[in-house]
Amino acid sequence: MKNINIAIDGPAGAGKSTIAKMVSAKLGCIYVDTGALYRTIALYITENNIPDEDIEKSLPGADVSLRFVDGAQRVFLGDRDVSDLIRTPEISMAASRTSAIPAVRAYLFETQQSIARSNSVIMDGRDIGTVVLPNADVKIFLTASAEERANRRYKELAEKPDCPTYQEILDDIIKRDYQDMHRETAPLKQAEDAVLVDTTHLDLEQSANEIVRIITEKTGCDV
Ligand code: C5P
Repeated sequence: MKNINIAIDGPAGAGKSTIAKMVSAKLGCIYVDTGALYRTIALYITENNIPDEDIEKSLPGADVSLRFVDGAQRVFLGDRDVSDLIRTPEISMAASRTSAIPAVRAYLFETQQSIARSNSVIMDGRDIGTVVLPNADVKIFLTASAEERANRRYKELAEKPDCPTYQEILDDIIKRDYQDMHRETAPLKQAEDAVLVDTTHLDLEQSANEIVRIITEKTGCDV
């Protein structure tokens, strides 16, 4: 059977990864979180104090790779699993900055395309439907209001020590959206042939069901 490629793009905190994981389990395909690749490059640059002017030439030494352990994605810098280290607010912001550099995007482009060539995938990011997989079988643009996205993130973090305030989270989300939408190379935008799903008033289950409905309608696959 032909590989199926599903692209899910959208702003930070729209629930892309949680929902894409739920849908990939139903579909029995691989879920690829491309944000983790950009985060890992940001970690590499931060840890090695690489100045902006040296980023391009340092990339071949980064040795970023994705591996799938029991179907779940892990991301590596060389032999080091950095999947958990990349989930900090500092790395979120650093990833948004470094992902605007064309050489960084070019470096990660082939990694993303080659996974989709040899597997059925649900891939989420910012430019999957517009740049990485322009011929994807299904394209979804998943969004929610900035306030609702900040609210969800705040509830997730509320129990943890050093939880940022709701306002800090909202400010970070708005800043990251702005950077991602206004960069010159591969900005975040809805592909012309993507279906818009606004989850502001939907819970996770309802959002996943809506996406499954769209995939079934577009591909004829019985999910
Ligand atoms: O999806 P996530 O929030 O983990 O992504 C972190 C950052 O990586 C985003 O803010 C964005 O700048 C960048 N990114 C990107 N293109 C992608 C995925 C992520 O530019 N396909």
